[in-house]
Amino acid sequence: MLNLILFGPPGSGKGTQAIKIAEAYGLIHISTGDLFRYEMSHNTPLGLKAKEYISEGKLVPDEITIGMLANKLDQHLDAKGFILDGFPRTIPQAEALDTLFESHGWHINMLLALDVSEDEIVTRILKRGETSGRSDDTDESVIRNRIHEYEAKTAPLYAFYDDRNKAYTFNGIGSIEEIFQGLCALIDEHLS
Ligand code: ADP
Repeated sequence: MLNLILFGPPGSGKGTQAIKIAEAYGLIHISTGDLFRYEMSHNTPLGLKAKEYISEGKLVPDEITIGMLANKLDQHLDAKGFILDGFPRTIPQAEALDTLFESHGWHINMLLALDVSEDEIVTRILKRGETSGRSDDTDESVIRNRIHEYEAKTAPLYAFYDDRNKAYTFNGIGSIEEIFQGLCALIDEHLS
């Protein structure tokens, strides 16, 4: 199995790269942001709960997010591997992920972190908001909140994986194709 985490601030290009990597390596792509948006668009109880947090740029509480991810993994027990995009985002989520994966006899191979400056991500997210239909992409104060949540709760995860020799940083500025090729080179090196 090949199990990857795509890591980086909001708007760093995780989703775009995750889709390409999933296709190239035959992995199941799981984006917790996409899962929440699906639930919200169908007005499910989970979606309504998540919306309270997402609309303010806050992280959804761990127990909700972890439960949703566990369900999704259970739907793909025969996967060749996973690429997780937007999960884990807190240390308790990373610990829960270890426990879940261990229960299946799986492990995380690599965390790939996209390095992009704060100014660049605000510009990118506002631009994405012009067409994405995501209300959390149009309000600069919500975007700044998401970045604050990232710095406070998510960025420390890099060290969690670095301590386990699983963390890799890649420059997230450049063309989609350039970044994709660079990430593939890191993955191929790990596999060889
Ligand atoms: P972005 O990376 O651009 O912020 P996502 O689609 O990954 O976008 O996430 C959108 C929102 O969904 C986040 O701001 C957060 O509120 C919520 N969310 C997504 N994944 C998680 C997670 N693992 N834990 C808590 N909240 C999450």
